[in-house]
Amino acid sequence: MVTRHAAALATAVILVACGGGGGSPVSQDPDTGAPTDSGTPSSPTTLTRTTSQGPTAERVADYLYSHASGGPWDGAHGEYTHAPGLVRFAFPPTVRMAASMTGRERAFAHYGIALVNRALPYEHHLQIGPDAPSVVAKDGGDLEGNVPHGEIFVEFHRDSASGRASPAVAHQEITHVYDDAQARWEKKVLLTGQVEMDSDFFDNRPDHQAISVFVHELLHTIGLQGHPDHEEYPDSNMADAWFRIDGSLPAIDAAGVLALYTRLPAEIEPEDLSVTDLGAWEEQGTNLTRSLSRVSFGVRHANGVTMPWTKGTDPTRDLADNTRLQGTATWNGDLIGFTPTLVGVQGNAEISISLATMDGRADFTALEHEDGSTWGDGDLGYTITVGANYLRSTGGDAGTVNGQFYGANHEGVGGSVERADLTGAFGAVRR
Ligand SMILES: [Zn+2]
Repeated sequence: MVTRHAAALATAVILVACGGGGGSPVSQDPDTGAPTDSGTPSSPTTLTRTTSQGPTAERVADYLYSHASGGPWDGAHGEYTHAPGLVRFAFPPTVRMAASMTGRERAFAHYGIALVNRALPYEHHLQIGPDAPSVVAKDGGDLEGNVPHGEIFVEFHRDSASGRASPAVAHQEITHVYDDAQARWEKKVLLTGQVEMDSDFFDNRPDHQAISVFVHELLHTIGLQGHPDHEEYPDSNMADAWFRIDGSLPAIDAAGVLALYTRLPAEIEPEDLSVTDLGAWEEQGTNLTRSLSRVSFGVRHANGVTMPWTKGTDPTRDLADNTRLQGTATWNGDLIGFTPTLVGVQGNAEISISLATMDGRADFTALEHEDGSTWGDGDLGYTITVGANYLRSTGGDAGTVNGQFYGANHEGVGGSVERADLTGAFGAVRR
C-alpha cells in the first residue's frame, strides 16, 4: 500500500494515445495465403523437442529501458514524454469490461487478455472480474477514485463523433514521488488502468486489427508505457500498435512482459535497470510444435514460462455466419504441452459448437506424458462460448481455454489450455 506524504507525492493520470492513422480499413486478403496442407498430420505418438532462439538479455533490457526512460517517444500525434520509471502491478490485476460492451467486443477483449496471459506464468495471469459500469473514466477524466486499485477497466465507446483524436487510448493512475537528488518526479506505484477503444473505428476493419491494438493498449496499462523505436524493434507490437498479432505476442513483447513481471521489482528507476536485473536468461527455448491443415500450434518454454502459440489464416466471416455449417460443428485434433517440470504431454482435442447458440465444448482426452503414462486422470473438459471467431472457456475443469478459428470457412481451430499443472496448445480440423 502507499502512504501519502505531503508534497513529495502526486498521483497522476497518464494518457497514451496510439494507433492513429495506421492500418488498413479494407478486409484482409482471401484465403490465398493459407499455409500449405502438410497432408499428413504428425504422428500422435511422437513428441519431438526442438529449440529456437529468442531475444538476448541485452535486447530485453534495452527494450525495457525504452519503456522506463520516460521518453521521448513517437506517438500518433507527435512526441510525448512521461516521468521516468518502470512500474508494474504488484499482484495480478483484475480486468473488468464495461457492461455496455457487445458480445463481439467482449470476444476481442477476452482473446487479447489471453494473448498477454500466454506470455506469463499461470499464477501471474491477469484475472477477469465482473462487468464494470460504463463511462466511469472517459478520457481519463474520472479515473482516480472510480477504478479500484489493482483493476483495469476496458471500454468500447461508440462515440467517434466526439472528436477524439485516437481510436484507442490507454490511461494509468500512477503514484509519483519527487526525487530531490535527481530533481525530478519518478513513477513509483501503478494503481489502476483503463483501455478505451472506438467501436465505430474498428467496426468495419478485420478483427485482428482491433485485437492487435487492444493488446498494445493493455500492455501499456500493465507497465509497458513507452513506444520502443520502430527501426530497432520492427517486430514489436509496442513499437507499432498495428503490428499484427496472430496467436501469440511478438517474441520481444512476450519477453518484455515476462521479465517485467517475473524478474524485476514492482518499481525501478531507468538508471538502475540493467541486464543483470534479468538474472540467468535463456535465449534458447524448448519447443513442441505440430502442424495440421489450416493450423499450426505449439508451446515454447524459456525463462520459466511455457508460452502457447497458434498460427493460421483468418476466416472470411464470423463462425455464426458460415451458412455451410448447421447443427453442431466438430473439430478434431491434438493437444501438446508441458507440465511445470517440462515433461511433455499430448492427447486428443475435440471442439464442438452449436451453430444455433455459439456455445459448446472443448474436450481433451487420452492425455499422456511422453513416457506413455497417463497425465492426471487422462482428460480435461470445458464448456466454451464463441464470439466472432474467438472461443473461450466458461466452465468445467480448472484452468482456461482460449482460441480462434482458422481457414476461410473455419476449417481449423487452434488455442491454449492453461492450468497450474499444464500449459498446452491445441489444433483441430473440422470433420
Ligand atoms: Zn501506444
